[in-house]
Parts: sequence; structure tokens; C-alpha cells
Amino acid sequence: MSGARLDTAIWISEYMTPWDVYLHGATRVLEQRITDHQELTIIESGAYGKALILDGKWQSSVEDEFLYHEALVHPAMLQVTAPRRVLVLGGGEGATIREVLRWKAVEQVLMVDIDGEVVAACRRHLPEMHQGSFEDPRLELRIGDAMEVLRDEEGEWDVVISDLSDPIEEGPSFELFTTEHFALVRERLASDGAFVLQAGATSPVEMDVHVRVINTLAQVFPQVRSYQSQVPTYASPIGFALASNRPIESRPDPDAVDRTLADHTTGGFRLIDGESLLGLLQTPAYVRRAMERESRIYTLAAPPRYFGSGRGKT
Ligand code: SAM
Repeated sequence: MSGARLDTAIWISEYMTPWDVYLHGATRVLEQRITDHQELTIIESGAYGKALILDGKWQSSVEDEFLYHEALVHPAMLQVTAPRRVLVLGGGEGATIREVLRWKAVEQVLMVDIDGEVVAACRRHLPEMHQGSFEDPRLELRIGDAMEVLRDEEGEWDVVISDLSDPIEEGPSFELFTTEHFALVRERLASDGAFVLQAGATSPVEMDVHVRVINTLAQVFPQVRSYQSQVPTYASPIGFALASNRPIESRPDPDAVDRTLADHTTGGFRLIDGESLLGLLQTPAYVRRAMERESRIYTLAAPPRYFGSGRGKT
């Protein structure tokens, strides 16, 4: 590009597919190490502020993470009348719990992340993301495998939010995109509760995992909704899956949503309001058509293998 002058000597190459690379220019590496579960990198990027990268996969950056975390959390919270007990699986940066804690009815949030080193590094380097949420008295932070905690943790949750890294080969999260895991979530979910997960990219050439995750969820939950958000540093649109035992309102009245957010939350949203939510929940035709054709599901015997590779579960 003529006239482009890039002041950086550090480039993070994120492979979206074997043939597509997103080059993120960085001015500083704030932390980089191999933990027991994954490769952890925190950088100061040139354009989007500080960012977390795990196993070479971009997780979030300060300047555009709200487009992910608000889209992940609030459709599910709005699906439940008065969400009191919320379970967050993953969510290392603390931005998902930040969004959950905006809801006044919330009495207890349990956040389970497998990697204490990731959480500690995010607490240290990414205060713009967690904004002190780790100190909220309603939060219990537990370091452990989400699958095991779900199996052992009794009690019912009003909302379960799966904010896990992509199910890459030998990554720590691929078992949590299977019928077995989703059935366990449904057991732990209140009958009128909601379950939402980050469900992979939805670009036409990457959406295979997303569509199969939706189909896998549909084996367990009677109501499932695919939606997506545009997060520039992900390059591709990011897909979400919202599941419930009750019908999901896909065309919520914007004025009613605005009233609910005003009455039941502390506000401060940058993406979500009634109008934005209405648009967000409309599943594009190409995704709907792919969902109609999909017959495959993910199980522990045949889990997802998202493009990319991790360090192997230890
Ligand atoms: N926004 C990101 C995305 O869209 O992929 C996800 C963010 S968050 C950093 C992902 C978190 O999932 C990480 O902190 C990672 O440690 C956690 N994680 C991965 N596998 C897990 C498991 N089996 N149990 C609990 N946490 C897990």
C-alpha cells in the first residue's frame, strides 16, 4: 500500500486457514511463556491495544473485545427473567465476568478456567478488560477443567456461558464441544435457564465447525439459535450458539430490551442495546442453509479438530 509506514518490528502471524494469515503488528511483547496447558502471549499491538494470544490464536484485544464479550453474554442473560447464578467456563481475561456482573439480579458467578497462569497474566496486564471484576464479592474463581467441575459441581445455574478457546488439535478445550458435555450442561441448567457458547468462525470457508456445533447442541437442547458478531481482530465473523429448553425470542422488541437493560443492569454497554440485539440475532441465510444440510455431530469419540494445534492436554 503506497505510503504505508508500519512502526513495528514484531509481527504475530495468525493462520486463519492454511492459506490465510492475519499479521498483527506489535510494539511490545508483555509476556510470553508455555504454561501447563497452552502457549501464552500478551502483546501491545500497534492498532488494537493490548491483546491475549493462546496457542497462536488471537483471543481478544482491548480495542474491540466488547464486540465479542457483549455479544457472548447479553443475549443469554436476556433470555432468563432474573439470572441469579451464572457459571462461566473459561473466560481467562475476566471480560466475560465483567459483562455478567453488570446484571443487578446476579448473586453468584463461578468462573472456571483451566489455566491459572493465563488468569494471573490477564489480571496483571489487562486491567482494561477485567476492570476489577476479579475483586467482585459475587465472584468465585476456580482453576480447573470445566468438564470436571461440571461433573462434580451440584446445583443449578440460571445461565452457563462457555467462553473457551477454539477446539484446536491437542488444545485444552475440544472435549467441551461434544454431545456429552452439552448433556452435562443441560443437567446443571435450571429448567428455564440459558446456555451460550463461542462456537467458532462463521466465514463461508471456516464455518464447518460452527454448523456442526449447532447440530450437536440440537441433539441435546430443544431450542438452539446461531448468531454472530463482527470482531475486526478475528478477521472472520465469530459465531455463537444460544441454547435453551424454552423458545428463544429471535426478534425481541428493541424498546422492551432497552427498558430491561435500563432497569436490570448497571449499563455501560458499547455494542448491545435493543436495536443492536435485534440485528445480532438474525442468522444469515448461508448459515441457515448450511445448518439445514448438516447431519454430523461432535462426540468425545469424534471431537472437533479446529484448524491450529495446541500443546496437548497434560
Ligand atoms: N475470546 C476467546 C475466543 O473467542 O476464542 C476465548 C477467550 S478465553 C481466553 C479462553 C479460555 O478458555 C482460556 O483462558 C483457556 O485457559 C480456557 N480453557 C480452555 N480449555 C478449558 C477447559 N477445558 N476448562 C476450563 N477452561 C478452559
